Formats: sequence, structure tokens, C-alpha cells
Amino acid sequence: MLTFDSRENSDASAKFESWRTQNANGFVINFRSVNEMMLHRASCGHFDFNVKVNLAASPKYCSLNRDELQRWARERNVDTLKLCRSCDPLSDFD
Ligand SMILES: [Zn+2]
Repeated sequence: MLTFDSRENSDASAKFESWRTQNANGFVINFRSVNEMMLHRASCGHFDFNVKVNLAASPKYCSLNRDELQRWARERNVDTLKLCRSCDPLSDFD
């Protein structure tokens, strides 16, 4: 699992962008707070902006393994890992 957090690394937003590009079938947890985390697909349009924004202002936890991210959330006692309705991260690929 990788973490992109602009408070820890000023390049985090650019690194997250390049991770997304190279891992389009991966998954991302967008961490706003312990009570507000949402699981997305790396390809989700919510991460696309026409203007330059700091995508790592709220930390991103990324993995190719969806189970790993869900387990991580459970271990942190996250009651509800929200699921993005736009990219539907639990539906299976086919
Ligand atoms: Zn999404």
C-alpha cells in the first residue's frame, strides 16, 4: 500500500497522479477524516480536474489490492468505509 500525503511530501500530488496513470485498475482510499473515508477506483473521474489542484491535500491510500485497503480501514476502526457511487469500487471487473 502506498500513501500520498502532501503534508509529508510536497511532490505527493504529482506522484499520486503518476501512480493513477500507471495503475488504472488500482484502488484509492480518500482520507478526509477517520469518519470520512471513501473507496474509489484509481480511474475514478473524481480525481480528474481541468485545473491544477493538490490531489494529496487529503491523504490518498493506494493499492492494487482492494482487500488490502478494506482491511486497513477495518484495522483503523473505520466503521463505514464509504463507497464512491460514481466508480462503484466493489463491482467486479469483467
Ligand atoms: Zn470514485
